Amino acid sequence: MAPLPLQATERMADFDLTEDQRLVRQTVREFAEHEILPYVEQYEREEQYPLELIQKLVPLGYIAPMIPEQYGGSFIDVVSYGIICEELARVDWVVASVVSVINSLAGGSILRFGSEEQKQRWLPGMTRGEILCSACLTEPGGGTDLGNLKTTATRVDGGWKLNGTKVFISHAAHAGLFFTVASIDLEKKHKGVTAFLVDPKTDGISLGEFPMRTLKRDNLAEVHFEDSFVPDDCVLGEPGGGFPILGSALDMGRYSVAARCVGQSQRTLDLAVAYASEREAFGQRIGEFQMIQQKIADMVCRTEGARAVVYRLGRMKDAGIQRASMEASIAKLMASEANTQNALDAVQIHGGYGVAAEYEVGRHILEAKALEFGEGTSELHRKLIAEYALGIRKQ
Ligand SMILES: Cc1cc2nc3c(=O)[nH]c(=O)nc-3n(C[C@H](O)[C@H](O)[C@H](O)COP(=O)(O)OP(=O)(O)OC[C@H]3O[C@@H](n4cnc5c(N)ncnc54)[C@H](O)[C@@H]3O)c2cc1C
Repeated sequence: MAPLPLQATERMADFDLTEDQRLVRQTVREFAEHEILPYVEQYEREEQYPLELIQKLVPLGYIAPMIPEQYGGSFIDVVSYGIICEELARVDWVVASVVSVINSLAGGSILRFGSEEQKQRWLPGMTRGEILCSACLTEPGGGTDLGNLKTTATRVDGGWKLNGTKVFISHAAHAGLFFTVASIDLEKKHKGVTAFLVDPKTDGISLGEFPMRTLKRDNLAEVHFEDSFVPDDCVLGEPGGGFPILGSALDMGRYSVAARCVGQSQRTLDLAVAYASEREAFGQRIGEFQMIQQKIADMVCRTEGARAVVYRLGRMKDAGIQRASMEASIAKLMASEANTQNALDAVQIHGGYGVAAEYEVGRHILEAKALEFGEGTSELHRKLIAEYALGIRKQ
């Protein structure tokens, strides 16, 4: 794959990044372009989970940038974490997703709500790349209404028995930790939700295939819990106290997913610019046609606008504002929709080659669309943003 043209990738709303943050971007980008990008298409064609690519993150500390050094992580600021997610997603959805699930969802929740024993048990393995994580949240009956989940946790001597099914689970076959939620009392709805840290090798847990039209290299799975016994020390926080843990995890998850969408938007913009600069029709480069320029202009504006709100959210978190749920919804909504529209425009600029297997750009349409669902759909975020604006919901 040809390296990206410099003039396109320099167009970024990052004028006030610190020198260190700029250095993070430069080093992650160089790493991602040389060590990840050239291999992604092959993994997708062969439907192979990119474990070897993921392991390349470990020596550089990119796998655990939000985990403190005392547990082996490479702890950095939240803006830099977003930049890592952005740059990794610019070259690969799955590799970036691994980082997002470890740092925002599983590891991040353990850091915020776990006991010292739970931190010692799980975090060092994550930083060494030995424990990848899955967030097992979505159920066959729905992923948006998480307060209404059907997986149950029944009290037994010394722990809990889990029963239920989770679907769409990324990384499941390679995970060493399932961060999951189950209800200890279905009638209590969200007040029954409890968070669990589960070893995937636990008796009674099995994986089922969950075939997808896209992201075949992610090998998404169903996860079945059948009378799976988990001891008390697998409960994260308090029994019945899982919903706020979930809220906090998704708040941070939405930040990293939004950052990933910015990276992918940048990638489709870069591909479109490169193609429009070379391809000719009617005796001139197609980038000289106003209708193509209009698309490029819109792609730049979407990418820059999304990046600005994502960086703002990162700065808010660096300033110590832990819950910025409205801003997280704004960032997720804007960045994920920018990503999908950029992918569509980039494919259109490529003409028929946009859907030819030889060209990467077509792959981005469904991959971008998938990011509109994870960590809350566009409808959910519009609902949340409107409720904050109307005062129906408070931060
Ligand atoms: C590639 C990929 C990877 C994924 N990885 C994971 C993973 O690792 N772990 C995991 O747990 N899940 C994962 N998911 C699942 C994802 O989080 C869910 O698809 C998402 O939460 C939506 O749930 P659903 O698909 O069940 O849709 P539903 O909740 O059934 O919603 C269906 C439609 O109804 C709309 N809707 C629902 N409620 C409302 C409302 N109140 N107002 C207006 N509209 C509404 C939704 O926006 C959507 O358009 C993944 C999904 C994809 C595509």
